[in-house]
Amino acid sequence: MWRRSLESLVFSISRRYVAKECNMAQLIDGKSIAQDIRKQLTQELKELLTTGCPVPHLTAVIVGEDEASKKYVANKMVACREVGISCETKKLPASTTQEELLDVIAKLNKDPQVSGILVQLPVPDHINERTICNAVHVDKDVDGFNEQNMGRLALDMDSLVPATPLGVKRLLEHFNIETLGRNAVVVGRSKNVSLPMAILLSSDGRYNTKALDATVTICHRHTPPKELARYCRNADIIVVAVGKVGLITKDMIKPGACVIDVGINRIKDEKTGTFKLVGDVDFDEVRQVAGHITPVPGGVGPMTVAMLLHNTLKASKKQFSDRNSC
Ligand code: NAP
Repeated sequence: MWRRSLESLVFSISRRYVAKECNMAQLIDGKSIAQDIRKQLTQELKELLTTGCPVPHLTAVIVGEDEASKKYVANKMVACREVGISCETKKLPASTTQEELLDVIAKLNKDPQVSGILVQLPVPDHINERTICNAVHVDKDVDGFNEQNMGRLALDMDSLVPATPLGVKRLLEHFNIETLGRNAVVVGRSKNVSLPMAILLSSDGRYNTKALDATVTICHRHTPPKELARYCRNADIIVVAVGKVGLITKDMIKPGACVIDVGINRIKDEKTGTFKLVGDVDFDEVRQVAGHITPVPGGVGPMTVAMLLHNTLKASKKQFSDRNSC
């Protein structure tokens, strides 16, 4: 008798557990999707080399000693090698002048062995970020930050698209998230992440960028918190790229919405005393309401790296085809 009641208790608890799990948002596992993309790129690269195209080469330039930047660049180099892209990192001291950095970029622009150039941001305060981004040759600008690539993106023309928003677009497509005519909110208006994200979400899908046709609201630090919550609650898709822990909470989410967390924040775990990475979204709470959600880490980050590789291959192909058509 007691055994039967124990079994029925276990059964009812597990059902409740399964039901609760089912109500949870579907996890967007960027790490595994990025891994698949890297495998595809490895194959694509092998095929490209059979056509006589030289091995693509990415040069990363890093100025100063920012630990996070060094780690990001090191990850990018590992990823390049894994798919067969040749790569190197030029490390310059924090005292490098803008003119010296421009000179390094000019040499890389002219070097026919170099197919992609990436200047890791942020650069030290005495260097103008926009001047540097614009100095990278448009065809080698694998970060897509050059004014010409940004302009082309805004005009629905084929271009090298910044890796993070391109990675987010790929995630939305992978999970068949409906975007056409849907409401999207982009939280943040930075030129390298949020602006190209808003363009990709709102532009006309019939053109070269194959954009997503959503109705987009952009929020920033002057958006009053009440308004931010109101816009978010009306959104089918939220992309947040701010760098503020716990900015997006459960009460701001429309049930079933897709929540993409670009933010990266390093916080101290009070229990263990160790540091960990979290996003801008209150993950544990929001996943109880959302339909889809990206984790941090393991969501957008790996896609950013995969899209950088994609851009390097794309740049290399274009340069090869331009040389052969001369
Ligand atoms: P950013 O240039 O510092 O931009 C942050 C944006 O957030 C700004 O536009 C700012 O508005 C806005 N903002 C600040 N407080 C706000 C608030 N309370 N409500 C709404 N908006 C607010 O940063 P970013 O380069 O775009 O990066 C954003 C975050 O994404 C960072 O945590 C970064 O580490 C992360 N990130 C992740 C990846 C990845 O691969 N996962 C890639 C790049 C960046 P104003 O313009 O008005 O100041």
